[in-house]
Amino acid sequence: MEAFFLIKIGEILLKLGNRKEFETRLRNQLKKKLAGIRHTIEDYPGRYFLIVDEEDSDQAEEVLSHTPGINGYARAIKCKKKPEDILFAAEKLAEAAISSGKRRFKAETRRSDKSFPWNSYETCAAVGERICELHPECSVDLHDPEFIINVEIRERIYVFGETIPGTRGLPVGSGGMGLLLLSGGIDSPVAGYLMAKRGLNLSAVYFHAYPYTSEEARLKVVELAKVLAVYTGGIRLWTVPFTEVQMAIKAKAPENATTLMMRGAMMELSHCLARKLHANCLVTGESLGQVASQTAENLRFTQSRTTLAVMRPLIGTDKEDTVNLAKTIGTYRISILPYEDCCVLFSPKHPVLKAKLGEAISIYESLGLAPLLEKALAEAELLKIPYGNP
Ligand code: ATP
Ligand code: MG
Repeated sequence: MEAFFLIKIGEILLKLGNRKEFETRLRNQLKKKLAGIRHTIEDYPGRYFLIVDEEDSDQAEEVLSHTPGINGYARAIKCKKKPEDILFAAEKLAEAAISSGKRRFKAETRRSDKSFPWNSYETCAAVGERICELHPECSVDLHDPEFIINVEIRERIYVFGETIPGTRGLPVGSGGMGLLLLSGGIDSPVAGYLMAKRGLNLSAVYFHAYPYTSEEARLKVVELAKVLAVYTGGIRLWTVPFTEVQMAIKAKAPENATTLMMRGAMMELSHCLARKLHANCLVTGESLGQVASQTAENLRFTQSRTTLAVMRPLIGTDKEDTVNLAKTIGTYRISILPYEDCCVLFSPKHPVLKAKLGEAISIYESLGLAPLLEKALAEAELLKIPYGNP
């Protein structure tokens, strides 16, 4: 038996000239994620359908609920152009809703094929009558229904029940490629998720200060990248050895500027890596005022280390809201594992809060980091995390 899903797209519909491009991206994402199972994607104006074998329907739902660009989806039943077929499909969907305790319902019909013998009103009435006849415990409730039977009469007819919400946003890749600065913390994975939802394909970079940060800290970042890969359809994670750069900063920079200088070095390294990968922007989990390096003045300095746009989707978000989102997308339980990402050894007691741009740049330039940055980049290691990696 086949499982038939109706896919609803949202923001893509607002695209005028280049809508085809967005639709192709979405289709490609679905194909990539469904590569392991037999599937067909059909499209009609404003509507997509995914058809898979019934035994693969859970996997299909997993893909549909985690693919940016999809607003929602519903299990649907495809009908022949016969009134009786519609009623039979409505019965099946009603049975499923009734078995989960629902009783009040309504029918909704959209008809663009005017050659069908029933108009919208007649279709709704017939569906309502049939369900009430078979299930006297049910009643029609137009204002507060517990389930809705939707009938769409277009070039083909399909009947569907509840729409399950999707990720929304835009298809991954439609906004180009961003390089995510991914630490083991709570914020950066959420930032990556938000930007993937806005259509960025993501690569990620992690700065590893071994042995000051442990191997477990790196593995935690790998786990976080795997969660993001569920949305993006795979991700490339670069681990850049950062210890020598950090030691040089500690040795040469004024103590109160060490964190800021480290953030500057991370930004410069990310910039160089992004250029190599043809990424068009950087993504960070920074949030205004969260820590000393995230004041407007200090962000201005870190921004000065790159000419790429820096996407900071959490800049105006409260931590509590970020935590809630991290829980929803499944990164929180990984982020709170105890392995520290940043060593106290490198955190000054009184970090500079409002760096003067000129002064900060002079300090940074006096550190002579260029050869160390070049070496760190040359030693960067790539881990390809494919979609569906366990
Ligand atoms: P997070 O919870 O994301 O770790 P944070 O509150 O700890 O953020 P910072 O440590 O100042 O804040 O880092 C700000 C941003 O810099 C992070 O959100 C992340 O994008 C990037 N970043 C910090 N440390 C690293 C690292 N070791 N590797 C890669 N990116 C990092
Ligand atoms: Mg951090």
